[in-house]
Amino acid sequence: MKRPSQSSPTKFKSFSDLLPYLADEEKARELFEAIRWPHGAFCPHCRASRVYRINRPGRWKCGECRKQFSATVNTVFEGSHIPLSKWLHAIFMMCTAKKGVPAKQLQRELGISYKSAWFMCHRVRLAMDQSPLFERLGGKGGIVEIDETYIGGKASNNKHRGYKPKPKAIVATMVDRSGPARTYPVPHVKRRPIEWLVRRSVDPDTNIATDGHAAYKRLEWFFKSHQSVDHDKEFVRGIVHTNFAESYHSLLKRGVFGIFHHVSDKHLPRYLREFEFRWNRRELADFDMLTQAIQGAGGKRLTYQRPISRRGRSRKDGSPARSTTGNPLT
Ligand SMILES: [Zn+2]
Repeated sequence: MKRPSQSSPTKFKSFSDLLPYLADEEKARELFEAIRWPHGAFCPHCRASRVYRINRPGRWKCGECRKQFSATVNTVFEGSHIPLSKWLHAIFMMCTAKKGVPAKQLQRELGISYKSAWFMCHRVRLAMDQSPLFERLGGKGGIVEIDETYIGGKASNNKHRGYKPKPKAIVATMVDRSGPARTYPVPHVKRRPIEWLVRRSVDPDTNIATDGHAAYKRLEWFFKSHQSVDHDKEFVRGIVHTNFAESYHSLLKRGVFGIFHHVSDKHLPRYLREFEFRWNRRELADFDMLTQAIQGAGGKRLTYQRPISRRGRSRKDGSPARSTTGNPLT
């Protein structure tokens, strides 16, 4: 499977090249439009290319259906009152910080409310969700490592009276040694869900490397080969190891423990997509990642009611309800 390719319409060499766009809303909008419409503006309502600017900043009108639109229509940024220059800044930060950016930091750096920063993070995560549905990892001669990890703190570390420990979330990761990774939450590490997930995500002509967990025992039935290392005895045997997957988990855990402190089960898949996005593009320049995140925002919408639960009510200071978001301080 190929890595996502480079596709930035504007060439930047360093963060200082981006600064003029962060300080000038007009320039930010032009950059945003150039990324969103690399082959020229088109109408998001009827996809006609006969469109023209009207006398309002950032507004366009369609020559076919006569509707007005802007570059943010039909993207995760639609309806946002936050200037595009701040969106660019937030996306750049989230693309370049290997372990993620806390909403609190965005709040301080962009001078916006915590609620806006929190919601921005979730919208950018949705834009970063770009895993192809049908393209499989591995392939002829390829090696895919499969490993699982547990996300969450130790129950013994929580000294609150009456605290009932919840089971930790389990994440299964498949890493193609020559390219991308995919991560999914799984209910438990048992043979059936793991086999179902791996068969759905990995090409049958692939060599599989795992640890000695019993859930992986039958993978040799479905793939070209399956070799495992028993971590009680050895970690590497020639090319058989799960070091790539463990390195991925290490980044993910440092992000969850060190940056976000806690991620609720409900939001975990979106955080996983964020880490996957960065890992799969780790060889791209920062600005190409920014470009791809903006291009991935098309055709998606996220409203504030969706990230919080139906029952969740905002608190007086505008931040999301504690019980529904896991940790409101992330
Ligand atoms: Zn139109």
